[in-house]
Order: sequence, then C-alpha cells, then structure tokens
Amino acid sequence: MRFNTRLLHGDAQTNPYGATLPPIVQSSAFAHESAEQLEKIFENKAPGFAYSRIGNPTVAAFEKRMSVLEGGIDAIACASGMAAVSMALLAFLRSGDEIIAGSGLFGGTLDLLGNFAAFGIKTTFLESVTAEAVHSAVTPNTRVIFAEYIGNPKLDVTNIRAVAQAADAHGIALVVDSTTATPALIRPLEEGAHVVVHSSSKYINGGGSGISGVIIPGARVPATPALEAFQKYGKFAYVQRIRQDIWRNFGPCLAPENAYLNCLGLETLGLRMERLCANAAELAAYLEQQGLEVRYPAIGAILTVRAGTKARAFALINALRYAKIASNIGDVRTLVIHPSSTIYLHSSEAQKRAAGVYDDLIRVSVGIEDIADLKEDWRRAIDAT
Ligand SMILES: *Cc1c(COP(=O)(O)O)cnc(C)c1O
Repeated sequence: MRFNTRLLHGDAQTNPYGATLPPIVQSSAFAHESAEQLEKIFENKAPGFAYSRIGNPTVAAFEKRMSVLEGGIDAIACASGMAAVSMALLAFLRSGDEIIAGSGLFGGTLDLLGNFAAFGIKTTFLESVTAEAVHSAVTPNTRVIFAEYIGNPKLDVTNIRAVAQAADAHGIALVVDSTTATPALIRPLEEGAHVVVHSSSKYINGGGSGISGVIIPGARVPATPALEAFQKYGKFAYVQRIRQDIWRNFGPCLAPENAYLNCLGLETLGLRMERLCANAAELAAYLEQQGLEVRYPAIGAILTVRAGTKARAFALINALRYAKIASNIGDVRTLVIHPSSTIYLHSSEAQKRAAGVYDDLIRVSVGIEDIADLKEDWRRAIDAT
C-alpha cells in the first residue's frame, strides 16, 4: 500500500454502523457488566475501555492511524505537542540523567528543557545535532538525544540515520520531533530513530482546528534505568512505561473531538503536503529573485526571510493580505510570524542566536493558496515597504 492509499485504508479498522470516520465517543467513563470485567480491563487482561484519560475509542483510532503511518509499534496521543515531547522524554529519564539536544529547537521545547533542570535533568545543547557532536558530548549519564528533523524556525535538517548510529553506539535513545516534516516526507523510525513525536496541531490536523500531540515508539527502543521496572514487557517496555505510568499519571490525554479532527485531517495529508511543499519551493525561489534573503531547506513548507530590520519585518508582515499573523504552522492558509518578539520572547539573546532567530526574521508557514496569488501578495508587500 502506498502512502496516500495507506492514509485511507492503512488502519484496516471498521467503525460502528459502517461509519467511514471513527465516531466521536464523547464519554468520560465506560460501564461494564460486572466488577470482574472491569477488573480484567484494569489489569490489561481483557480489551476494552475504562476511563478516557487512559483510553478512548476515538483517540485509539487516531493512535492506530499514526502508528501505521510512522511504522511504530504503538502511538500515544497527547493533549498537545508539548505534552508529547514532555512524556516522550520523561519516560526515559530519572533525576541525574542527561539529554543531548539541538540549540535550534522549537521555543517551547527549549523552555521545557529548562524546566527539567529543576528536577535534576540536565541538557547539553549542540549547535547542530550530528554524529560527531554526539560522540563528543555523550557522558555516562546521557540517556536520550532529542532532535527536530527540520528545525523550527532554524530550518536545519538532521541526518537521522547518522545520529541514530551514534545513539546506538552509545546505547542511548534518539527521539525525533518530526512535526515540520510529517510521515509524508520522512519516517524517522525507518531511518533508525527510536521514537517519533509530533505536534499534531500542525500538518497532521492540517486545518488549525485543535491542539494535540502524539508519540510513536519503534520496535527497538533502548533500555534506560528509568525503564527497568518495565523490561518484562520486552519491546513494549517504553510503551508501557508511558501508558501505565508517566502518561497515565500526568494526565495529558487527548480529547475525543480533537482526535476525530486529526483523523479527518490526516486523510488529506499527502495531498496537502504535495501542494504546500510545491508552493513553498516556488515562493522561496521567487522571494530570492525579489532580492530578499531567504532560507528554505528544499524540504517542507516553512521558509524564513531576513527583512533587514525589525521595522521592515513588521511592515512586510502587516502589508501581506493572504497571510494570517499567527503563532502556528502547518495550516492550509499561509501564516506569518516574527519569532523574536513572540515565540522566543522569553529566550536570551544567545539562545535566539543559537536558534537562528534574528530581529529581522519572518517565519512563513506556506499555505495551499494559488501560488500566483501568494507571489502577487509578496510583490505588493515588498513594493509597499
Ligand atoms: C508547535 C510545535 C511543538 C509544540 O506543539 P503544541 O501542539 O503547540 O504543544 C513542538 N515541536 C515543534 C517542532 C512545533 O512546531
């Protein structure tokens, strides 16, 4: 089954009444015929649902689809991308453990790694997550490497295969945030990564209609001390550490309605990514011709523009008609933002520089509009400024 077919037929699930989409099961709890039956469900000795923080049929349908698309052994849906990143990392960690991460990460993730420090989890930041840099940064306490495949907004691209080999050489885990790429462009588990996370608020949902995240573990997650008690589950040790422990107890479950919106959005992921990426490549080339300093990594649908000054960046943003000024990416409509004064507001100057965030930088999440209209819009904005 090829990718676009798999989006529609890959999960091989049937729904009640022959519904073509999973129904929204908007219920907190699930009643059962006997106390014995509910006991079995709690003990994982019978299939079924007990309570929607732990499992819900609509959420399970979304998880199944994501697991199939990424080639994982399971998927765990979360209330946000940040919840997915938090849970994916914490499941590997105890106080005293260390993370290696890129310095150009999404602003929220950088802030999160700062939060971890208060709990005795230290992060070593690399300017660029390469195999060589990992080999020299790793310590006996390093448990996990965290990298974005296409950095947002630095737009650097990680060589997952090489970094995964380095991770394997040290027996540590590689977690890849693939939000900006999606399984339409790359499947990090096939490249050797151990776990994939997404902010599915972005391209997976596709229409900007709800916040969510998802963790997709592969079959060869390395054992860390934090997973010790779960080793009896074999290749599912990490999945069970999340489902029966960290994620269940922290409680960042996904709402059924958002799971439904993600299932709906996923069906057109392939089509959208084709159009979004083609538009982004063409717009990047056009803006460069117009004399702007453009960064586009030749993959994905995000580009950045250096306007020269913050004032001109604001003027350009304000002059665009077909770009919403919004703190989001991965929508069908074009979105623009000035990262330095928004997403990176709380970052130091050094952190901003390391993340490729400059005072004159505009991030553009290119949409599916007609490319001729997008070009005209930018031409007008450039002329007006
Ligand atoms: C948006 C984003 C996140 C955080 O996701 P939320 O759904 O906003 O919590 C994490 N990583 C990347 C790369 C993102 O773009």
